[in-house]
Amino acid sequence: MDVYGLVGNPVGHSLSPPMHEAAYDELGIDARYVTFEPDAIGAAISGAQDLGIEGLNVTIPFKEDALSHVEPDPLADRIGAVNTIDFSGSAPPAGYNTDAEGARRAFERHDVSLAGTSAVVVGAGGAARAIAFMLADDGARVRIANRTVSRAESLAAVVPEASAHGLEALDDIVPDADILVNATSVGMEDDASPVPAETLHGDLAVMDAVYSPLETRLIREAADRGATTIDGAWMLLFQGVVAFETWTGRTAPVERMDAALRRRL
Ligand code: NAP
Repeated sequence: MDVYGLVGNPVGHSLSPPMHEAAYDELGIDARYVTFEPDAIGAAISGAQDLGIEGLNVTIPFKEDALSHVEPDPLADRIGAVNTIDFSGSAPPAGYNTDAEGARRAFERHDVSLAGTSAVVVGAGGAARAIAFMLADDGARVRIANRTVSRAESLAAVVPEASAHGLEALDDIVPDADILVNATSVGMEDDASPVPAETLHGDLAVMDAVYSPLETRLIREAADRGATTIDGAWMLLFQGVVAFETWTGRTAPVERMDAALRRRL
């Protein structure tokens, strides 16, 4: 039996085990997906390698620290965070950031093209970093708006052609935008949105990284104004799909994984 898993803290309510195990069931793969809450990521990675674990996902608070314990691919290196580790080669294991590709495939699934668009990313944390690099690599002009402007400035300094803003700039930059992504945690705890509703419009494609609740206030207000909306479960699904395909070399049963995920949201 192959073993895959997730390291983070906390991971008790993670949706990754049912999503990945649905894929193993569908394709008849003899594998389990388990969660771990280690104290330190370095020891967890070398222990996983020694134990013969096939692959690990990495989540908060270890995504950035994991980078120095793997051989990161160029995109993970630029983003500065690893969320998928593949132990199939020799040590150090290969590290990837599938959040970026997960977000790309979420847009693709909704027939939203990114090349030549004007994109606003709200947030400058881990999710925002992955999404901002992906958008720029796909040819979007990226404007990063964050509560702490200095963090937006640090990110904009490394993302090609990006600019940095405070949240008050959203009033000016969202009406002209084609793409809007909420990559803050706003909307998770309460029915709040980081983007003023009156700036939203029907020519926008709006993605929310927040997946609990599925229908955030931003998604609801964007849909009310005729925007294309992409809830946070799409990015979550596709980062898992890309990890599954990296580890197994097989085409993921996307619909089955999606159903397993949405049943629990
Ligand atoms: P993070 O690194 O801790 O970053 C948090 C971001 O949220 C920062 O930009 C922070 O701004 C901002 N923020 C927090 N509270 C705020 C508030 N009250 N008002 C305005 N801005 C606020 O977290 P992360 O890993 O990027 O995750 C962000 C969200 O994305 C979480 O909800 C997470 O669950 C979700 N996520 C989803 C996926 C997916 O697959 N769907 C993947 C990764 C993350 P400051 O810099 O000013 O503190």
